[in-house]
Amino acid sequence: MFEKILIANRGEIALRIQRSCRELGIKSIVIYSEADKDAKYVKLADEAVCIGPARSAQSYLNIPAIIAAAEITNAQAIHPGYGFLSENAEFAKRVEGSGFVFIGPKYEAIATMGDKVKAKEAMIKAGVPVVPGSEGELPLSTPAVIKIANKIGYPVIIKAVSGGGGRGMRVVHSENELENALEITRTEAQAGFGNPAVYMEKFLTKPRHIEIQVLADEYGNVIHLGERDCSMQRRHQKVIEEAPAPGISDKIRKEIGAACIKACKVIGYRGAGTFEFLYEDEQFFFIEMNTRVQVEHTITEMITGIDIVKEQLYIASGEKLRYKQSDVKITGHAIQCRINAEDPFTFVPSPGKIDVCHFAGGIGVRVDSHVYSGYTVPSYYDSMIAKIISYADNRAHAINKMKGALTESSFSGIKTNIPLHLELLNDLGFCEGAKSIHYLEHYLKNKNKI
Ligand code: ADP
Repeated sequence: MFEKILIANRGEIALRIQRSCRELGIKSIVIYSEADKDAKYVKLADEAVCIGPARSAQSYLNIPAIIAAAEITNAQAIHPGYGFLSENAEFAKRVEGSGFVFIGPKYEAIATMGDKVKAKEAMIKAGVPVVPGSEGELPLSTPAVIKIANKIGYPVIIKAVSGGGGRGMRVVHSENELENALEITRTEAQAGFGNPAVYMEKFLTKPRHIEIQVLADEYGNVIHLGERDCSMQRRHQKVIEEAPAPGISDKIRKEIGAACIKACKVIGYRGAGTFEFLYEDEQFFFIEMNTRVQVEHTITEMITGIDIVKEQLYIASGEKLRYKQSDVKITGHAIQCRINAEDPFTFVPSPGKIDVCHFAGGIGVRVDSHVYSGYTVPSYYDSMIAKIISYADNRAHAINKMKGALTESSFSGIKTNIPLHLELLNDLGFCEGAKSIHYLEHYLKNKNKI
């Protein structure tokens, strides 16, 4: 096992990784930008290196500065967390090329899965069901694209091959919208991702977002830790996540889990990863793989008792997977609410000083957060300030527990989206469960009409 690692991230995940390091007796080094100098996790780390000014491009995305920080502190490995450089194949390559272990997959696997067309091809090869669509990139000739769209059947969605973060896609309902949509998406893809290539998929009208967590070691051993339902989304951003997904039987879980395991073997995957699917009419359709730890990994930890970050560290240090598939037992139900510093109804960010904050506690309540009374939420980064997780023997109890936990928690000085979470947890539709990815947007739209 490593003695010392560098955490190339910020916020709650920097603290989360530190916690697993402490448990394993690993010293942790954090990097930070000038805007994060007062963060508590920076003070709690064994060592901390300031790598640049607030702007991410000059700090958390600055590859040479991060590698230099690892060199001067004698780190053995680098954990990228999520976001920032975590899915940047070039970063992984340069980390390994500089003699450090990248706590994640090999850069080739990141590159394959980061190209959506290549990722889909790899999945088809592994027998994982994908959304019906074009075979690879769309041709430049519009009549040829019209033919493809007719074959798939409207509505279709045009997506950037190099897209991400819910950007670079456009739904097309009929042939007369097609040419214009193609042109706009290509232009946006070029501007946003430096690659104008687009592909086409059938647009599913009422899917749920269900994802499978996997763990793989260097020796070809792979297990899955079940699924998460992340259908409660606004603008393709997850708001509430839960595990297990309502209505997914053991049989379905086993089948899709086995397909993901096979896919990991086909691509030579190593580390923690997530296969994201759209799920409609009891069928799974692969959309993408996240080759890193996810924000919502926590709920899987609660229902399996497996610390995913700890396993990432074991895997990266060259150990064999410590669990077999038969060791993985799913019990109870977990829900995560992402607490953002924002107006709960207009969604305008609300950075600034938190005068006083208080978090809930009690059995089955987990808080992953880096904030404290007197902390100033910087305006430069993501607005998420905490993740509150409830765990109970069943979904109804987990919902009630979450309502209690949110009511107990309080922040003054900034606005948070806790009021929106409480509304949703009281909503009949949410309580029924198994809603589509459009549920929250429709809910918000209808509410504003009243
Ligand atoms: P990104 O990498 O930008 O997150 P994804 O391919 O994961 O892109 O898609 C993001 C979201 O867009 C999905 O969670 C879903 O809400 C929607 N989406 C993507 N593809 C389709 C599709 N074929 N049909 C319906 N919705 C889709």
